[in-house]
Amino acid sequence: MPMFKLIQQGKHWLGKLQPCQLCHHDYQAIHSVCQDCWQQLPWACQTVQRQEIPVQIACHYAYPMDRLIQLFKYEQKLYLENLLAGTLLSLNLPKVSAVVPMPISTEKLVQRGYNQSLLLAKHVARHLNVPVWQPITRLKQHSQKGLCRLERIEDIDTQFQMNTSSKLRYRKVLIIDDVITTGSSIRALSQKLEELGCQQINAACVAGAKL
Ligand SMILES: [Zn+2]
Repeated sequence: MPMFKLIQQGKHWLGKLQPCQLCHHDYQAIHSVCQDCWQQLPWACQTVQRQEIPVQIACHYAYPMDRLIQLFKYEQKLYLENLLAGTLLSLNLPKVSAVVPMPISTEKLVQRGYNQSLLLAKHVARHLNVPVWQPITRLKQHSQKGLCRLERIEDIDTQFQMNTSSKLRYRKVLIIDDVITTGSSIRALSQKLEELGCQQINAACVAGAKL
């Protein structure tokens, strides 16, 4: 057997001998967790309709997924990427030509240090062997408290702006986000992508929150 294959196999088996990232008790079997922890995730694996847009969700936004997403998003527990993106890969994802992460504003990026949806999107894109595409930027996200429904929609629509330097165009895309609640961000992003000429816009989220 060639040396590089031996090294690859060695790495593969060493990876398997790491403890599960959730229970730290059993060995890793799938996407950095053990078989039991994987099976006990609050699986949904379904398509939900939000704002008339079909969105694939891997899990329900319930324990422990809610906590894991918070750790990944706000507490720099970036090692959870493999697990969270792994749940997306267990969905029956459509054939697309690019993956579009949900953008966050520069203010949030500075505050957080990274865009959690971009990390997940990169992971999924690698798996699908397609590029990550970021043609839309997001302006400052302010609190929507005190706004009526219509004002909220208008406010969120103005947050998404076309990145004018982008000349690339993809027809079939997959939006990736961590959590979907009302779906207003996905709707606003989809609208902008349509304006750019996208004809088939799909969306997948790690977890769907109950409305
Ligand atoms: Zn475990």
